[in-house]
Amino acid sequence: MKQNSFLSVCIDSSMDRVPGFEPGGYRFESCSVHISGHPLQKKGVLFYKGEQVIHCEDHCPCCSGDEYGTCCKPFHEGVFPENALKLMRSRYSAYVLNIPDYIIATTHPASPEYSENKFSWKRSLSRFSQDSSFTKLEVLDFKEKNTVATVVFTAYLTQDRRDATFTEKSYFEKVGRRWLYRGGQLVSGHAPNLVTTGQLRLLPLAYYGDAVLRKKADVVTDVTEDIKKLVEEMIETMDASDGVGLAAPQVHHSIRLFVIRTPIEKEGGKFDLGDVKVFINPKISSPSKETWMASEGCLSIPGVRSSVERPKEITVEYTTLEGTVVSHRFFGWEARVIMHENDHINGVFFIDRLPSKEKLELAPFLQNLEKRIHDNLNL
Ligand SMILES: [Zn+2]
Ligand SMILES: [Zn+2]
Repeated sequence: MKQNSFLSVCIDSSMDRVPGFEPGGYRFESCSVHISGHPLQKKGVLFYKGEQVIHCEDHCPCCSGDEYGTCCKPFHEGVFPENALKLMRSRYSAYVLNIPDYIIATTHPASPEYSENKFSWKRSLSRFSQDSSFTKLEVLDFKEKNTVATVVFTAYLTQDRRDATFTEKSYFEKVGRRWLYRGGQLVSGHAPNLVTTGQLRLLPLAYYGDAVLRKKADVVTDVTEDIKKLVEEMIETMDASDGVGLAAPQVHHSIRLFVIRTPIEKEGGKFDLGDVKVFINPKISSPSKETWMASEGCLSIPGVRSSVERPKEITVEYTTLEGTVVSHRFFGWEARVIMHENDHINGVFFIDRLPSKEKLELAPFLQNLEKRIHDNLNL
């Protein structure tokens, strides 16, 4: 048992090095820290370089050896981890620090641990955090390929003074720009007891360079059960990717169908996402003469945003999911999203609508993106 001036107890005095991915020459030990005068017991990581203790209190509970502020904190505050290992670590530290919202936000809707009842899920996660004493995290293996990754880790913890250490192989999937936890397979020990309900499937996205995105899509002749199921999965996929709209060709179905979430403009140019609307065989007419510019992005062209000029108002005649043909006038952002998605079913990208000078500037980036996606698909 080690001690120094600012900590009084070390639960675990083993001297394992976290294998791989860490800077060499360090040794990690987890500990509980009692800061004098501080009413709460803090949890941290003892961080040695040689025999010198560098610091304990501020270190990230994920056992990376880095300070929390530059390690997992930015992720807990909304930055997307750039790889699945960082996501796994930040989820672990979210368990330690009792941040259930982060666990929920980074769980894939298709994960067996995903629950539609966010409130009870949150309570159960919180209970797990409070009832567990986290000692150490050890990463044993990390593999990442294209949009899937696995991390094998051992989480050392006690519950009610009993050892609850377990080793798990976690699966991750990248959806849009975000890595999400897809599920876990127990290697040894007992799985932590967490809520498990819900079964949904996310659809693979088509990216810039995929031929399906350049085709003029076919008319939907009948709103079949298959179409309804596709719509349901498209909505899940759109929501999981934080998208405001998704067209069928973007999920490899060349048919005239798209879904949107009504954007509700807030102050500072931000949005809340409202109800889902489904458009089948849409026909746009009577665009207003008045146009406006606004910045658009696309799930199929990650990393590109540009200002596009579009009419302020349009009329759309379309078939609903119930099979009835309706006609409505749409305005502002909602009209813009509809036009963006309608472009997709005609094989058009928003970047095709940019002035030629801007298109030229984008060309090298797009070539690179196309190559990267092509190479990945052929790995
Ligand atoms: Zn961390
Ligand atoms: Zn798009």
